[in-house]
Amino acid sequence: MNYAENILETIGNTPLVKLNVLTKELPCLVLSKYETFNPGNSVKDRMALQMIEDAEADGRLKPGGTIIEGTSGNTGMGLALAAIVKGYKCIFVMADKQSQEKIDILRAVGAEVVVCPTNVDSTDPRSYYSVSKRLGEEIPNSWYVNQYDNPSNCKAHFLSTGPEIWEQTEGKVTHFVVGVGTGGTISGVGSYLKMKAKEAGTTVKVWGIDTYGSVFKKYHETGVFDENEIYPYITEGIGEDILPLNVNFGVIDGFTKVTDKDAAIYTQRLAKEEGMFLGNSAGAAVKGLLQLKEHFTKDDVVVVLFHDHGSRYVGKMFNNDWMRDRGFVEEDFKTAADLVKSNSDRSLVFAQTEELVSHAIERMKSFKISQMPVKDVNGFVGSLDESILLHHFITDKNIADKSIKEIMGKPYPMVIKSTKLEDISKLMTKENDAVLVDLENGYHHIITKHDIIGGI
Ligand code: PMP
Repeated sequence: MNYAENILETIGNTPLVKLNVLTKELPCLVLSKYETFNPGNSVKDRMALQMIEDAEADGRLKPGGTIIEGTSGNTGMGLALAAIVKGYKCIFVMADKQSQEKIDILRAVGAEVVVCPTNVDSTDPRSYYSVSKRLGEEIPNSWYVNQYDNPSNCKAHFLSTGPEIWEQTEGKVTHFVVGVGTGGTISGVGSYLKMKAKEAGTTVKVWGIDTYGSVFKKYHETGVFDENEIYPYITEGIGEDILPLNVNFGVIDGFTKVTDKDAAIYTQRLAKEEGMFLGNSAGAAVKGLLQLKEHFTKDDVVVVLFHDHGSRYVGKMFNNDWMRDRGFVEEDFKTAADLVKSNSDRSLVFAQTEELVSHAIERMKSFKISQMPVKDVNGFVGSLDESILLHHFITDKNIADKSIKEIMGKPYPMVIKSTKLEDISKLMTKENDAVLVDLENGYHHIITKHDIIGGI
């Protein structure tokens, strides 16, 4: 019979799977280290078990103890599985930007989860770094894991993930590309592969995937920890506003940053085009890989590591409403007709030349608009907007009682339904905030600068 003694024995020995579609434009072979085959569905099972075993070995973790960690989910899952098998309790502290699924999953495997605000400084007592540290000090017989600075994190990848990649590629790997959070994966795998390559007289380049809002890339390139680089971002699992001890910058040859939008789009594309239902950092890794195109040649063997599974992101990157709310859906707003489609249930708001300015102001307020065309019996003859009103108000306080034709500006340019977005954009100038679209049969609509930005 061939069976594992318990679930922990199934950690590791994950497959290496070729990418066939998304990386077509690259000259080289691209292989993914497919870590969702681990029992907790992520690479983090490896380091979680290593951290626990090392803490048991030197007495930091004692029988019946409580494991405390600040985790975005995957490390928590690995720790929870090991805790179940080995008889420990778990308390996990998470930032509130993490998906609800991740929180629910950790509760499902018996952990207590404490949720903290994302947008506070890491030194703030409410931050998940501070809360996890404090719980570690307050709870008796507890052990604070600290995956960021715990050397067993990097060690796990040096001892297992790295050797697997070297053997699976028969030492032919030339590049390793991976998202960086705690840095354990890149540093452990990277240093193992570089060590083996040196022994073999070859080289392996190690590239980190970073995100906008994180400090890694700039720090690596300049040695400057720039607080201006820190701002909230959506991508999960990678990037930091601290420098974890597990990031060994000396092993890393370079970083590339991937936007939240690109990471989300490529997460969807991996599922739809490669049949790889993976987490958000896998999307970021593939897009980053494409950004690094010029570094790869025909004979290269590039290994990219995919950290976790798509099921943790069904309410986010795999939910089109969520994607649309963040402007991540690439809608084809190509023509004037497309741009006004979403406003087609509303008729055009306009003013007439003989109306008083007060009428126009009322209309602008009630429709919450900042500009409108002006008509007379012959058609559109002028325009009115906030800056015209303000300009006249400064010189004449009685402006509200004047007729609109006395102060109106030039009429907006008129385009037909099939006019392309780029041609409409050219008509938008400092002096001209909008264009009108002739929808035929006497109907017209307006396209503002705001609509153009929304349509990009
Ligand atoms: N992707 C995901 C989904 C993760 O959970 C993590 C860990 N934060 C990473 C990437 C980054 O891995 P590491 O912490 O080893 O740098």
